[in-house]
Amino acid sequence: MKSTVTRSVFLFLIVIATLSCNNKTREKDEQVITQKEWALVIHGGAGVITRDLMTPERDSAYRKVLTEALETGANILSGGGSAIEAVEKTIQVMENSPLFNAGRGAVFTNKGTNEMDAAIMDGSDINAGSVAGITNIKNPISAARAVMEKSVHVMLSGQGASEFAFEQGLEKVDPSYFYTDHRYRQLTEAINREKNGTVGCCALDKQRNLAAGTSTGGMTNKKYNRIGDAPVIGAGTYANNSTCAVSATGHGEYFIRWTVAHDISALMEYGNMSLNEAADLVVNKKLVEAGGSGGIVSVDKYGNIAMPFNSEGMFRGFADSEGNKAVYIYRDE
Ligand code: ASP
Repeated sequence: MKSTVTRSVFLFLIVIATLSCNNKTREKDEQVITQKEWALVIHGGAGVITRDLMTPERDSAYRKVLTEALETGANILSGGGSAIEAVEKTIQVMENSPLFNAGRGAVFTNKGTNEMDAAIMDGSDINAGSVAGITNIKNPISAARAVMEKSVHVMLSGQGASEFAFEQGLEKVDPSYFYTDHRYRQLTEAINREKNGTVGCCALDKQRNLAAGTSTGGMTNKKYNRIGDAPVIGAGTYANNSTCAVSATGHGEYFIRWTVAHDISALMEYGNMSLNEAADLVVNKKLVEAGGSGGIVSVDKYGNIAMPFNSEGMFRGFADSEGNKAVYIYRDE
């Protein structure tokens, strides 16, 4: 009698275990079923971005460029183009606008110069390229891509980076191209240390490859020759096909020390977290406790998107193969 009861309990436990395993499989299957064909997410910087600091004209000017950038990348991805191509071309749109702190609208150093950083990373082969402290290349993100694809190095800086970029046929501009009144006023009035406008993009393409890119003029009034997190692989930029692609914006010194972009990927890889859980933990807990303000945009291998930030606002937007498309600026939207 006793052994029959024991056997029944044992069988019951096996049935329960099997059922819960099936549930897990189903959960996984569901995740796989919601696999998006492609997805794209962008940011145009995080910081003190509130409705009362914005005019209606500036608000719509920002939304217009963000939308144009999103559409550029979305067209590439929906047409079967690569994630790397989408990231580069999307970022170029924002670099060419004076509104963002990247390319044309880069902020000034304490010496009144514009020194830009950029990085790009291919999640399919963990290849990456970055440039730091460049002053005369129109599109720093393209210089980063050239370093990744045409050199044996990962990171080039200063004059060497510029010379390499020219050899690759990239467009050279006079440093005065990066002079904008708006940014110069920010330097001379020593205001706006936090409201920057770095740009970034992450993409998942139809071949299921992930890529990330970030481009910035750095922090207003930064010491000349200072390098931020954007070109540091694993800090401001990271992509890995087995987890996610991440592009960051915020106080770079914290993003470097907390290796933010790679930390999110590692929490997914080793901690089994979802993209949302990992991104939220890093941006809204670890960085907040450390005092590092900013945010990230990210896409995982299924096309899920996360855009957490711990500052007042972040220029951001996303689009995917299911027809979703939106741009946002403030915290309450
Ligand atoms: N992360 C950039 C830097 O520290 C600045 C920013 O994103 O606003 O250079």
